[in-house]
Amino acid sequence: MITTLPRLPSVREIVKLYGLSAKSQLSQNFILDKNITDKIVRSAQLSNQTPLVIEIGPGPGLLTRSILDSGAQHVVAIEKDDRFIPTLTQLSEATQGRFRIVQGNALQVEYQDILGSTFLKKEQNEEPMHIMGNLPFNVASPLLMQWLHQSAGQQGLFGLGDVWMTLMFQKEVGERLSAKPSTEQRGRLSIMAQSLCQVNTVYTVPSTVFVPRPKVDASVVQLKPRDDVLVLKRDSYKTLEDIVRYYFTKRRKTVGHSTKRLAKQIPEVKTILDELETMIDFKARPEDISTDVFCSIANLLHEKNIIIQL
Ligand code: SAM
Repeated sequence: MITTLPRLPSVREIVKLYGLSAKSQLSQNFILDKNITDKIVRSAQLSNQTPLVIEIGPGPGLLTRSILDSGAQHVVAIEKDDRFIPTLTQLSEATQGRFRIVQGNALQVEYQDILGSTFLKKEQNEEPMHIMGNLPFNVASPLLMQWLHQSAGQQGLFGLGDVWMTLMFQKEVGERLSAKPSTEQRGRLSIMAQSLCQVNTVYTVPSTVFVPRPKVDASVVQLKPRDDVLVLKRDSYKTLEDIVRYYFTKRRKTVGHSTKRLAKQIPEVKTILDELETMIDFKARPEDISTDVFCSIANLLHEKNIIIQL
């Protein structure tokens, strides 16, 4: 059942009424066109079967209204800037308990605070839960890395069932997330995301849509759990992060060069150098190596208790 929200002042009116000028230190660029926020929600594939949507940084709440219009059963928004709380509270009151606001920093909020009294059991969640947001650009990558770690460890929300993330990033970050091997954009983020998720750009949003207008376009990227068997053993995720960082800080060197250097620095790596050479093409550069090969290397290093922290 899709419940229609009662008539509320338009978000454009609210922004004007409360004098909500954007704060650049909180990466505030608002979307004030509901056609656009509706399109973002359609690209996320929400429905009235969706058990929970967590929205990061609702601001004046237009994307929130589109999420609520989808009929999702519970919506929780985390907002740091207290200037938006009165208008979000008004929206919450209009939804008969479907929408709750948590005031705080999304990087620090505990998932118990997000769920509150919302009772979700693992076996109830056949439909995916969603994390969504027109993310504050300055915290977008750390937030995503935090969720990916939780996803690998099946912790917090990620322990309760599938979680799909539909998130707005600066276009360039979106391209890095979905980049295939041997492309210019291929980097750490590509491998960290693609080791666990299928990553697709579902919508490109021109900078003209935002108020104030940012310097660059944005893209909406959807990350869904991979539907094949993961190569990565879940407890190897931290090792994956360390080795990917190691190889990509020497992006121009061949993988063979960097691996041999690693063997000089860490004696345990020397003992598995031959094995590593059978796994990776030593003549390739890091951007040419597939995600699953990096995952296999992380599994091997983790299994041998080899810690890469240089
Ligand atoms: N969702 C709104 C929209 O699409 O118009 C606002 C998007 S604006 C790019 C980012 C929002 O995230 C702002 O409302 C800002 O206050 C909020 N924000 C910034 N840092 C945050 C953090 N660490 N935790 C939660 N919210 C944050």
